[in-house]
Amino acid sequence: MPVPPPESSVGVALPATRYAARAIHARRVYGEGDTAVVALADLSLDLPAGEFTAIMGPSGSGKSTLLHCLAGLDVLTSGSVRIGDTDLADLSDRERTLLRRDRLGFVFQSFNLLPTLTAVENITLPADLASRTPDRPWLDSVIDKLALRPRLRHRPSELSGGQQQRVAVARALVNRPEVLFADEPTGALDTRSGAELLTFLRAVVDDLGQTVVMVTHDPGAAAYADRVVFLVDGTIVEEVNEPTRERVLEVMGRLET
Ligand code: ADP
Ligand code: MG
Repeated sequence: MPVPPPESSVGVALPATRYAARAIHARRVYGEGDTAVVALADLSLDLPAGEFTAIMGPSGSGKSTLLHCLAGLDVLTSGSVRIGDTDLADLSDRERTLLRRDRLGFVFQSFNLLPTLTAVENITLPADLASRTPDRPWLDSVIDKLALRPRLRHRPSELSGGQQQRVAVARALVNRPEVLFADEPTGALDTRSGAELLTFLRAVVDDLGQTVVMVTHDPGAAAYADRVVFLVDGTIVEEVNEPTRERVLEVMGRLET
């Protein structure tokens, strides 16, 4: 039986787990009638602040839909998504756009850097577009944590894939987001650059206190996370804490057959 929280009259309260984001009975249906596709089916997920969560599952299981709905890039058919205490359903399109800009970060498989801008210009672009002066000490710690200082004046074409993706991560972190979402961030990298990027993402969680949610196909990548959740048919069917590559492979083998 769950232990009830201590009575407030006692004057002590356990610190509540702070969730950076939550999906509550999330449902996303594309299309209507006979051709409707249920991409998310009554999915609930808590993402504690300061943790690194990996999302896995077969192709078409709803991973990208989940990430897009959590990040306010797509909207649920029913159920809710909260970022901190904000329910995304309470927001207008405009407010959701601002929330994405000010409170979330997103990294894609393709780095999506602007080719004519230097690394540092790409990194500060979100702050520049919001007419905000980036928080200098934070920007410095992000640049150093991602080992980008020697590359700041380089343009994307002068950087390796791994370096370009680190610039994309730094850009996503510049506003000190409440959650950093990454959809297959190592998908376009070779094994060594991929492993390097994951080590950097791990450091962003451990040393900068960031919350990271990453979709991946790769059991080796998932092993960098604190927790792996497995989706099948738009719902969570399994969770692994402190994953190893072997344990993730074992669950994948069981789920995909
Ligand atoms: P995954 O990322 O795990 O491969 P997706 O979230 O992309 O899965 O897709 C889940 C399901 O929803 C799939 O059946 C997919 O075809 C469908 N789907 C995703 N986006 C759309 C869309 N915009 N319109 C129609 N169907 C979609
Ligand atoms: Mg996908």
